[in-house]
Amino acid sequence: NEKMASVFETVPQAPADVIFSLTAAYKADTNPNKINVGVGAFRTDELKPYVLPVVKKADAILFNDPSLDHEYLPIAGTPSYTRAAAKLILGEESPAIKENRVAAVQTISGTGSIHTGAMFLSKFYTKSRKCYISKPTWANHRNIFELVGFEVEDYPYWNPETRGLDYDRMIQTMRNAPNGSIFILHACAHNPTGVDPTQEQWKGIAEVMRAKGHFPFFDCAYQGFASGDLDRDAWAVRYFVQEGFELFVAQSFAKNFGLYGERAGNLTIVGKSPADTSRVLSQIEKLQRSEISNPPAYGSRIVDIVLNDPALYAEWKENLRYMSNRIIDMRKQLYDRLVQLGTPGTWNHITDQIGMFSFTGLKAPQVKVMKEKYHIYLTDNGRISMAGLSTKNIDYFARAIDDVVRNV
Ligand code: PLP
Repeated sequence: NEKMASVFETVPQAPADVIFSLTAAYKADTNPNKINVGVGAFRTDELKPYVLPVVKKADAILFNDPSLDHEYLPIAGTPSYTRAAAKLILGEESPAIKENRVAAVQTISGTGSIHTGAMFLSKFYTKSRKCYISKPTWANHRNIFELVGFEVEDYPYWNPETRGLDYDRMIQTMRNAPNGSIFILHACAHNPTGVDPTQEQWKGIAEVMRAKGHFPFFDCAYQGFASGDLDRDAWAVRYFVQEGFELFVAQSFAKNFGLYGERAGNLTIVGKSPADTSRVLSQIEKLQRSEISNPPAYGSRIVDIVLNDPALYAEWKENLRYMSNRIIDMRKQLYDRLVQLGTPGTWNHITDQIGMFSFTGLKAPQVKVMKEKYHIYLTDNGRISMAGLSTKNIDYFARAIDDVVRNV
């Protein structure tokens, strides 16, 4: 037996996940000044995880509800939850909801939602095998779409010279892409750049997508986090629906409810007709059955309670405003300090960008010095999570940036 080679002998070692390794390195670092601006999770000014007060209330309701048990949820999840999630992104007055051509499936957070949508498209979408993702984007977009067999291409997004959207080249790539290609669009608070198209630019994007018959797949991981306003952050998705597109929206409640580990997500499907939509739903349920059988209950119950209770919903919006305001405040404080220090370069992109992240423009060698000399952990592309900064560490952080910008 010992002489037999392992059946796994030829399995190559996979590279470690960049973000999760960064957090592991940060945790292992014993320097008291260390800062983690790698991971995209909200922190309070004390740099502690934040359990939303409204989530605590919903938790108490759950705990005291004698009717709850641990039975399986339906395959597509709890209808009151999926309906509320779809309404949250599409809006109360959505023509698609009124015309009964919306379906929704509860998923394993945003990642599961993108995966489920991608899996469905890989089996049933016949117009193109190409999927376009922004350059740069959240690393999992490529992972997920390659996993299910799409040819993944980039579309230009970030222009390092303007530190803004590379709109013209983005549109050009959309024009040149084969008709019917799938385009992954960040609904708001683009990760990693923090740069979103303006409403005028979204209109231009929709126009080209329609002319080319491209399929929009929105990834919405930060609704309410970008601007603090749930409706404003849903504008692009609602505009596309209003313009008559068929589309998918992957929703995550990890960030806006602080339910990261509970994996509460939703895939909203907007079709052309109730009949189309329900056939799509039937196939997605069949896929879901073989992949996860049925979704996890806990996180979705919290979201369900809050979205369906007007008082708790109002309180959630307050909690969201607290989170987005703290992030906006950190942007301003960082900007002010860099300007005070006279750090070479322009820094207004820090306050112009929105959402959890800022794309600082720091280069990989500067990032290396940030880590080795200052014990500040960020990804090599220079992205920082604003939530890792606080009134206590921002001076140190700004001085570190000033040093590497001048000397590296
Ligand atoms: N999409 C983007 C752009 C993200 O940044 C994230 C989280 O970082 C997600 C989707 C999904 O995350 P989760 O699976 O934790 O909901």
